[in-house]
Amino acid sequence: MKKHNFYAGPSILSEYTIRQTADAIINFEGTGLSLMEISHRSKQFVAVCDQARALIKELLQIPEEFEVVFLGGGASLQFAMAPYNFLENKAAYLDSGSWASKAIKEAKMFGEVLVAGSSKADNYSYIPKNLEIPADADYFYYCSNNTIFGTEMHEDPKPGVPVIADMSSDIFSRPIDFSNYSLIFAGAQKNLAPSGVTLVIVRKSMLGKVSRPIPTMLNYKTHVENESMFNTPPVVPIYAALQTLLWYKELGGMEAIHKMNKQKAALLYDEIDNNPLFKGTVTCKEDRSIMNVCFVMAEGYEALEDEFNKYASEAGMVGIKGHRSVGGFRASIYNAMPLASVQALVDTMKSFAQLKTKK
Ligand SMILES: *Cc1c(COP(=O)(O)O)cnc(C)c1O
Repeated sequence: MKKHNFYAGPSILSEYTIRQTADAIINFEGTGLSLMEISHRSKQFVAVCDQARALIKELLQIPEEFEVVFLGGGASLQFAMAPYNFLENKAAYLDSGSWASKAIKEAKMFGEVLVAGSSKADNYSYIPKNLEIPADADYFYYCSNNTIFGTEMHEDPKPGVPVIADMSSDIFSRPIDFSNYSLIFAGAQKNLAPSGVTLVIVRKSMLGKVSRPIPTMLNYKTHVENESMFNTPPVVPIYAALQTLLWYKELGGMEAIHKMNKQKAALLYDEIDNNPLFKGTVTCKEDRSIMNVCFVMAEGYEALEDEFNKYASEAGMVGIKGHRSVGGFRASIYNAMPLASVQALVDTMKSFAQLKTKK
């Protein structure tokens, strides 16, 4: 039986991405070589990399002044690389979850960090509002989707200073307004490809401004100037990313995908709000993520948590256990998650409630 894959990351990929990549691992574009053993400087692979970058620009409608590069090191390396390249004096950071707080820790090594707002005291159950962002900050940093806590900022902030965003778990889920961004980064393993590659979108005119020297590999300029080929890039994940991007184009692009995502999320949140056994963990409904849906057993039903986990797993659901810092359940419903799988989870919640409430 094909599983309903709700893992938070690495996570579900489209069948198209998996099949195309599997084929290329056996025989890459008729070369008689595996994708895993071909030179990254071969003309066939350079074409893959160029096409993937071009398709990202096309799908997200990225303005000319930005460049797209593929890096290693995961999103976590960007927590240090961003301030290394952009933090001269001080920066404002939004403390909206574990990933943001890890980024704050790294940034403190490079300059003064002002916390523009924090929901830590409430276990990150909402996105802080009324942010304090000084006009002379080098940049404002935030994480657009808090994968662990299931909160998301649905609009691109306009704080009056350049913006840096960790979009690891919601990139390609909606259109983006690039006007205020200096840098957007995303680990690939949620909405794009297997783990191993990080997508970086950087505004070229913002580079080369900090006074400190930057090691070659940690300098965005190096990778922009060498079009992601300064050193060996993660060849297989980039190929898989291209397949996902082609599939996104086929689906109709960002507006169409955003619409499907909102529909899937609404279906599941509706069940959480109406099923007496469950309740959502995000305290501000407008901050609910359309990618990671967090919920727990409602009051009086807490003891049923393990039983529901088992019940759902018997129905083919995988990966719905919540992160240990929140508990309960988390259903990650990334772009590749079919509506039918969300419906299957909803049906499972309904039948479990019937089982438990009938006298
Ligand atoms: C998964 C995730 C990360 C960490 O990514 P790595 O590639 O493992 O370093 C960072 N930020 C967010 C929002 C994530 O979802």
